[in-house]
Amino acid sequence: MYSTEALNHVISVAAASADQVDAEGAYPAAAVDALRGSGLLGLVVPEEAGGLGAGPQQFVDVVGGLAAACGSTAMVYLMHTAAAVTVAAAPPPGMPEMLSAMASGNALGTLAFSEKGSRSHFWAPVSTAALSDDGDTVKLRADKSWVTSAGYADIYIVSAGSTSGVAGEVDLYALPRSGEGLSVVAPFAGMGLRGNASSPMTVDATIPVASRLGAQAAGFGLLMETVLPWFNLGNAAVSLGLAGSAYVATIGHVSGARLEHRDEALSALPTIRAQIAKMGTTLAAQRAYLRSAAASVSAPDEETLNHVLGIKASANDAALTITESAMRVCGGAAFSKHLPIERNFRDARAGAVMAPTADVLYDFYGKAVTGLPLF
Ligand SMILES: Cc1cc2nc3c(=O)[nH]c(=O)nc-3n(C[C@H](O)[C@H](O)[C@H](O)COP(=O)(O)OP(=O)(O)OC[C@H]3O[C@@H](n4cnc5c(N)ncnc54)[C@H](O)[C@@H]3O)c2cc1C
Repeated sequence: MYSTEALNHVISVAAASADQVDAEGAYPAAAVDALRGSGLLGLVVPEEAGGLGAGPQQFVDVVGGLAAACGSTAMVYLMHTAAAVTVAAAPPPGMPEMLSAMASGNALGTLAFSEKGSRSHFWAPVSTAALSDDGDTVKLRADKSWVTSAGYADIYIVSAGSTSGVAGEVDLYALPRSGEGLSVVAPFAGMGLRGNASSPMTVDATIPVASRLGAQAAGFGLLMETVLPWFNLGNAAVSLGLAGSAYVATIGHVSGARLEHRDEALSALPTIRAQIAKMGTTLAAQRAYLRSAAASVSAPDEETLNHVLGIKASANDAALTITESAMRVCGGAAFSKHLPIERNFRDARAGAVMAPTADVLYDFYGKAVTGLPLF
C-alpha cells in the first residue's frame, strides 16, 4: 500500500508548478523529483523487486490524482509505470539491477514505441534490429516520433522489428540514457501536456543482446499482454483526472460568479445546471467503468479484453466532452488562466490520439465482440 501522505505531497508539488509547466512548456522537474522520493515510481512493481506490489485499482487512483493536479506529471508517471511493468514482466538479463532502480526512484523510465514510419500503429515498428554474427550484440536503428520524458528519462524501452526477420515480429530493448546512440531530435511544443517533453528521438546504437526484454520476438506479446492493459487503464485515468478537475472548477465558478442585476449565481440558470448534470453523470459513469476495468485486469475473465479496449477510448472521449462543456458553461472566464479549465481542455485533447488511438480501439472493440481477430 502506498502512503497517502506521500501521494498528497507529490500532488501538492505538481499542482503548485502546473501553471508554470504549462505556460513555459517546462518539464515538471519538481514533481518528478517528488515522485522519485515518494516510493510511487515502484507502485505496481512486485515487492520482491523493491516495489509496493499494488494493483490496477491503486494505480488508477494515483494516476487520476496526479492528472487532476498536473496532466504532464501524470503522463510522465504513466509512461514510467508502463515501462516498469514491462521490465518486471521480462527483465533484460544483462541489466539485473534495473527494475529495482526503477522501483526505488533512481531510474525514471519511458516507452519509445511510436515511429515516424508506422505512426500510431505501435504494434508494427518499421525500425530495424540486426544480430551480430556472434549473436552477442544488436544493431538498432529507429526513428521514434514521440517519446515522453525524452532526454529526462534514465531508461527507454524501445521497440523494433525483431532480429528474427519475420514480418510482424517485434523485439523490445532497454536503453539507458547514458549509453550512446540515443538522441533527442527536437524540442517538444504541444498544445497540451506541454511539460511532457514528448520529443522525437533517433536510435542508432549497438547494444548487448542481453538488454532485450524476453526472448527473440517476445515483444508483440509483451505489448499486447502487459503494456496494453496498464497503459490503457492509466491513460483512461489521466483523461478522467483532467475531466474531474474541469468539473470541480466549473461547479466552483458557476456557484461563485454572480449576475448582480438579478442577485443570483450563474448556477441559477437551468441550462447551466443541465450541462453540469451531464458532465457529472458522464464522469461518474466513466469512473465506475474504470473501476470495473481495473478489477477485471486484476482478476481476468472473458470480458477483460473488452474492458481494456473500451475503457481508454470511452474515457478519452468523455474527457473531450466534459472539458468542452466546462469551456462553454464557464463562458469567457474559461479562457482565462485563473481557472484550470482551459489547461484541462488542452491537456485532454491528447488522450484520444495517443496510441492505441480511440478510433483504433473502437475498431478493435468491434472486432473483439463480433468474434473477428484484432490483427
Ligand atoms: C502528448 C503526447 C505524448 C506522447 N508520448 C508518447 C510516448 O511516450 N511514447 C510513444 O511511443 N508514443 C507517444 N505518443 C505518440 C502517440 O502514442 C501516437 O503514436 C501519436 O499521437 C499518433 O499520432 P500520428 O500523427 O502518428 O497519428 P496517425 O497514426 O497518423 O493517426 C491519424 C488518425 O488516423 C486514425 N487511425 C490510424 N489508424 C487507424 C485505424 N487502423 N483505424 C481507424 N483509425 C485510424 C487515428 O485514430 C488518428 O485519428 C505521444 C503522443 C502525444 C500527443
